[in-house]
Amino acid sequence: MAKRARGVPAFGFRIADARVADRVQHFPESVIREMTRVAARHDAINLAQGFPDFDPPREIVDAARAALEGPHHQYAITWGAKPLRDAIAAKAKRFNGIDADPEANVVVTCGSTEAMMTAMLSVVNPGDEVVIPEPFYENYGPDAIVSGARAIFLPMAWPSWELDEEALKAAFTPRTKAIVLNTPNNPTGKVFSRSELKLIADLVEDRGALAITDEIYEHITYGGKAHISIATLGSMADRTVTINGISKTYSVTGWRVGWAIAPKTIADAMKRVHDFLTVGAPHPLQIAGAVALGFPDSYYTELAAMYARKRDLLWEALRSVGFEVTRPDGAYYIVADHTPFGFADDWAFTDHLVKEIGIAVVPGSSFYSDPADGRRFVRFMFSRKDETLREAAARLEKLEPAK
Ligand code: GLN
Repeated sequence: MAKRARGVPAFGFRIADARVADRVQHFPESVIREMTRVAARHDAINLAQGFPDFDPPREIVDAARAALEGPHHQYAITWGAKPLRDAIAAKAKRFNGIDADPEANVVVTCGSTEAMMTAMLSVVNPGDEVVIPEPFYENYGPDAIVSGARAIFLPMAWPSWELDEEALKAAFTPRTKAIVLNTPNNPTGKVFSRSELKLIADLVEDRGALAITDEIYEHITYGGKAHISIATLGSMADRTVTINGISKTYSVTGWRVGWAIAPKTIADAMKRVHDFLTVGAPHPLQIAGAVALGFPDSYYTELAAMYARKRDLLWEALRSVGFEVTRPDGAYYIVADHTPFGFADDWAFTDHLVKEIGIAVVPGSSFYSDPADGRRFVRFMFSRKDETLREAAARLEKLEPAK
């Protein structure tokens, strides 16, 4: 029985200083980022925060070096250097079938993280409802809170991660401003199907709402699963903010270059918000990003094949030691049910894993509005060298199922 969508999460992470603004009192620091620090403290293999431990392609690094030798040391146009906006529009056409005018529809941001926050700040009025499928990437919770949105969480059921059609319909009300989608999905690995996206698009159109869609893992899908941009369905081009970035596709998460493609009026609003938040993303790295966006098809095929191998390596390892796991169709995370090992909750298990086994993961509750819903899960991340994953597999063998 699918649970009904709920209201805003009851986060209780107060900073004991009355000078701190209320809006900050409703969300914690990122657990994902914290786990990277915990991993370092315990000298553990970091399978927590999503970033590669291998080098980016030579060509993008060479392009960045060349850009640093060029005249790109000052601010770019605040909403993005022209070569990058042109490349974004060309790539969106080539891979997604999205028509974007580089002048009217493209806003370059400091990573897709800023694009999502900027999108929310640009469209949400306090009290507007924003539908978020759950489990969800932890940023969307604070994004909703900071923008004043009332988050309506919509369960995706373990282990299929299917959306309940009735619950989806019920989640859309006259107060719905937007749905925040993430496909391929972090943490579940779900790749939304055309029929699911169609159902969502119909509701968005019917309610005059928007879709804000984070497609950062678009090139990381398995078994021929096609990534579909909801902006290409029906009239959705006029109702969708499509977010992406160079971080995951080109293995440069520290460069902080992302973007949004949006209808002109919403792009105009986002340009304002983005300008006053950050002015712009690093100019030379935008120029290098423009080069990367032109990589040949073989680059993307090889990227997906590399990640398929890594997925299988970690998935087999997790299964063979006794986890219950779902096999992701996209992105580079595996949600695992740790309960066969007999720990009280996700934090107790995570603590044991990092201290005794030497592997850092993210506690499942970080992906749920009600922490209780995520207690039996942890998230493993496999953007790691094969040798790192093999070492992790060897360490996992030390785990003992509860008697
Ligand atoms: N998306 C990545 C994750 O879930 C991390 C991104 C980030 O830390 N900014 O781990």
